[in-house]
Amino acid sequence: MNKSIDDLKKLPSIDSLLLKPQLAAASGPHCLKVEAAQEAVDACRKQILQGDSPQDDMVASIVADASQRLAAKAHPSLREVINATGTLLHTNLGRAPLSEAALQSINTVARSYSNLELNLKTGKRGHRYSHIDTLLCRLTGAEAAAVVNNNAGAVLLALTALAQGDEAIVSRGELVEIGGAFRIPDVMEAGGVLLREVGTTNKTHLGDYETAINDNTGLLLKIHTSNYRIVGFTDSVPAADMVALGKQHKIPVMEDLGSGMLFDLSPYGLPKEPTVKEGVAAGIDVLTFSGDKLLGGPQAGLIVGKKWAIDKIRNHPLARALRIDKLTLAALETTLSHYLDEQQALDEIPVLRMLNMSVECLEQRSQTFKEQLQQQVTQTCTVEIIREDSCVGGGALPITNLPGAAVALTPLHLTPDQLTNRLRSAEQAVVARIQDDRVIINLRTVLANQEATVIETLVSSLQQKSN
Ligand SMILES: *Cc1c(COP(=O)(O)O)cnc(C)c1O
Repeated sequence: MNKSIDDLKKLPSIDSLLLKPQLAAASGPHCLKVEAAQEAVDACRKQILQGDSPQDDMVASIVADASQRLAAKAHPSLREVINATGTLLHTNLGRAPLSEAALQSINTVARSYSNLELNLKTGKRGHRYSHIDTLLCRLTGAEAAAVVNNNAGAVLLALTALAQGDEAIVSRGELVEIGGAFRIPDVMEAGGVLLREVGTTNKTHLGDYETAINDNTGLLLKIHTSNYRIVGFTDSVPAADMVALGKQHKIPVMEDLGSGMLFDLSPYGLPKEPTVKEGVAAGIDVLTFSGDKLLGGPQAGLIVGKKWAIDKIRNHPLARALRIDKLTLAALETTLSHYLDEQQALDEIPVLRMLNMSVECLEQRSQTFKEQLQQQVTQTCTVEIIREDSCVGGGALPITNLPGAAVALTPLHLTPDQLTNRLRSAEQAVVARIQDDRVIINLRTVLANQEATVIETLVSSLQQKSN
């Protein structure tokens, strides 16, 4: 007891710690240094009170602890993560990485002033939509376009602007919940739109919509079931038939495409998904889709369709609340411009490149990766190459498996959980999956210039002593 009182008396003052070269010279604001020093002293005090003896050089060990705490505090909270899961659109990992050109556009617009809402020809007030609407119309064949913060916002805005106080008719097979508690019925309620469900879970016919139409019907709504599939005995109504029905009754038709795609990916071995252009050609009045799903751009909600409907949407007060910011707009314009040339889109947009990566390419990359890793981890882990399918994720192409290969690691002195924890908390965080007690590194989603870092992080994580 007396010993611990003596030890407690020896605890250094915060001021004296801050003067130690290791802390004084460290980068980081003063307030964080004080906080780190206080925490380190508190930790040591706790240790003494528990009856543990402090380190021989108590002050040095407190300074070392404080420096570590400071480094952790000074690190930005939002930071780069290497995605080794093989899942292309991981909402938790920020969905789509952007093309180089899109990054440059953000940089240019962010570092200076811009013509965000200034018409440079007339010197008069312009509109932020003017930077993308021509492009979106050209790419989709639509009459008009608008863009907001994200697709959930686009759906809410379009529903509210077009059908507030009215009924919207939706198939029971399309009442989808998208991750993060975005449920179509709830969004409709928030927008003051009354949900009128028709049909059954697996089958809805045109007649179901027709029977439900009444004086209060304001909208026929179609929702792409992006994150699940009903297979087997199923039926849904093609867009063109809904448009014909809507015309007959003078009711607009809206479709939420979720992850809309601007061109058909089926020539690249992916399933046929409705493209935005097809929806526009079918005569749908309003289509909404995400900027950061298969499109491979920044988070945004894109809205295209008939001029009368888009005008209503643009002029609704909610449009102001959901407006897109200039950095997103810069990245979006550049991403969309890649789509003017299909090949350029496939070459420049990371998500499309990853989507298109062949099994041979992944086998080759995995093989090279394995060779470089293996010689450094002979004592700590076994390395194999396995066949592994990836999924697209982010609620896009739910039942599509992208065939590929991956590197499977069996750590010898750690559990797979311990290894993935270490990878996540490393200086450069790496997120990997565990499957069948092995840690899987799928290079499909690892950018080429990140591979060396993944190897370094693996080697050091496998070497650290177990704790
Ligand atoms: C993903 C998705 C949304 C929401 O889009 P965010 O860009 O995440 O806001 C809405 N509807 C469908 C069908 C979706 O798949």
